Amino acid sequence: MSTPTSDIAYLSRALKAPRIRESAARLAEQARDAGWSHEEYLAAVLATEVTSREASGASIRIRAAGFGTVKTIEDFNFDHQPGAKRDTIAHLATGTYLQAASNVVLLGPPGTGKTHLAIGLGVKAAQQGHRVLFASATDWVTRLADAHHTGRLGAELKRLRRYPLLIVDEVGYIPFEPEAANLFFQLVSSRYEHASIILTSNLPFARWGDVFGDHAVASAMIDRIVHHAEVLTLKGNSYRLKDTNLTLPSEKTENKAH
Ligand code: ADP
Ligand code: MG
Repeated sequence: MSTPTSDIAYLSRALKAPRIRESAARLAEQARDAGWSHEEYLAAVLATEVTSREASGASIRIRAAGFGTVKTIEDFNFDHQPGAKRDTIAHLATGTYLQAASNVVLLGPPGTGKTHLAIGLGVKAAQQGHRVLFASATDWVTRLADAHHTGRLGAELKRLRRYPLLIVDEVGYIPFEPEAANLFFQLVSSRYEHASIILTSNLPFARWGDVFGDHAVASAMIDRIVHHAEVLTLKGNSYRLKDTNLTLPSEKTENKAH
């Protein structure tokens, strides 16, 4: 014989909302105790379903983003990093830059928290319902080169435009070949005023010409990136070495190695 409880179990399965079965019973008790109206009860049941769907959607998007290690804004120590104002990051964390298709550029020496903040903002975006993809600049170029060599570059750039946020980590660690620089330029152009990019780099813009092997391509790209962007320059010694007496070689010394 069907009872309201067994009907709810059947109907919640049919709706592919199996959690309703559990919350309906639990909230019914609360509703009786607190004298909720029918509408209040229904709203509470639906709200638990929506909240848990959003949470599982967020964790799926975070996993799909390819962050490697998940870092959060909440774990970032702002007192240690004067180049990233708490207010600026809090504003970015609301995700309004994504609606405006603006970019975020994080510059600064190694270990100053560029990747941490980029991932932290990516996590926020994923929690707000946006699809995000994270990879190093080198990996992006490899991906685009694969698409290019199989005649799919246009389709790939179009597909990527459906992601409101791409994160390109570590521009500048490895100089680009001319083809790579051109592919990267196409990625930036294709997203310009359509969708956001967060970029991190250990080099100031003035040095990007060397990375891309072509000052004209670098300038055209920087122009598009910074036209609508928040540019943050992080400072100081590596957080990785904060409890040691070590300092890293300065950028100029470091680049002799390239
Ligand atoms: P970068 O990308 O600038 O080289 P990372 O973001 O990878 O630096 O930071 C290096 C390590 O130090 C990471 O484990 C990161 O989580 C941590 N870190 C850096 N800055 C901070 C900070 N201000 N607060 C908390 N952790 C930090
Ligand atoms: Mg980094």
